Amino acid sequence: MEAPRRGKPPRHLSDMTLAERREAVVAAGLPRFRADQVSNHWFARLVDDPEQWTDIPAGLRAPLAASLCPPLLTNVRDITCDGGMTVKSVWRLHDAATVESVLMRYPATRTSRERVTVCVSSQAGCGMNCPFCATGQAGLTRNMSAAEVVEQVLDAGRKLARGEVAGGSGRVSNVVFMGMGEPLANYSVVISSVRRLIAPAPDGLGMSARGITVSTVGLVPAMRRLAGEGIPVTLALSLHAPDDELRDTLVPINTKWKVGEAIDAAFEYSQATGRRVSIEYALIRDINDQAWRADLLGKLLNARGRGWVHVNPIPLNPTPGSKWTASDPAVERAFVAALEARGIPTTIRDTRGSEIDGACGQLAATVKP
Ligand code: SAH
Repeated sequence: MEAPRRGKPPRHLSDMTLAERREAVVAAGLPRFRADQVSNHWFARLVDDPEQWTDIPAGLRAPLAASLCPPLLTNVRDITCDGGMTVKSVWRLHDAATVESVLMRYPATRTSRERVTVCVSSQAGCGMNCPFCATGQAGLTRNMSAAEVVEQVLDAGRKLARGEVAGGSGRVSNVVFMGMGEPLANYSVVISSVRRLIAPAPDGLGMSARGITVSTVGLVPAMRRLAGEGIPVTLALSLHAPDDELRDTLVPINTKWKVGEAIDAAFEYSQATGRRVSIEYALIRDINDQAWRADLLGKLLNARGRGWVHVNPIPLNPTPGSKWTASDPAVERAFVAALEARGIPTTIRDTRGSEIDGACGQLAATVKP
């Protein structure tokens, strides 16, 4: 599915490798080491205010910022919940398209370190048209650029570094491509943004690929291509039904790539990368939550092998205009139990951000006056 063509977002530091930034700076008539200095502020120190780039002469800061860091994301508003530990940001892009990102802070427990996950959008809107997801209802506006994706993570990183998120100063540990859009329909941008996130500072943000998850409706050829990139990101497959008859209606791309092909591609991904794949399954009351469907899902996954997969049931989050609701808690427990009985690790996904329309499937970026 081709995105409609629009004016491209301006080229930005976050679109470029360090070598490309040096070329851009030299082309602007400045010494190449200025690119390294700006990169260090941007990616290592997380300082985007040129006035604070004090190792650069005052007269050069504005021209460098203008040529390397044109504004890409304008904050429309931030909405918080969970005592400030969840922050949904609404962004206006250069062409007035709007997208959203969500920062979720999970404090350390006795057995786990603190995690901060940023859920990023990779497209304005989405062309996949899944009927239970708010993003799909307005269709696809356009693909985002790599810098537009990376800047969502950097904005969260800067807020954390400045101590603006409840819980004190911190850093982004995880990025999930689970915001607006179908990441694998904007493949090259998603790959470039992942490369920028994992490149060591000051080339990039120096994150671990293992902390990054790319979620897909099951674009099988792109899943195969991703397996060959040599980047061990986690792959998540939005399955939502183990049978083609139902999945054709819940995830319309299933009419092109069937359940069996999507699960095969997910299994191949786990074999190629050594990473356990996640299967996402929104539990929709009386639609896909029957115990027999859990059994069938378990059977299909075990038929490929053991230990390669993990299931993430997601209690359906309400979306405007949808008559569907989340499964009954007892039904949800039975669904999980049926998978566990087949030896499949299963964890219910939390519904973080649902009060602020910031949870899975709720990102619509409707800009209210
Ligand atoms: N397009 C990609 C990335 C979005 S990830 C994909 O579909 O995988 C968002 C996840 O939330 C997907 O698994 C999606 O199916 C799921 N989702 C969508 N609407 C939802 C809703 N109303 N409640 C719970 N999960 C939902």
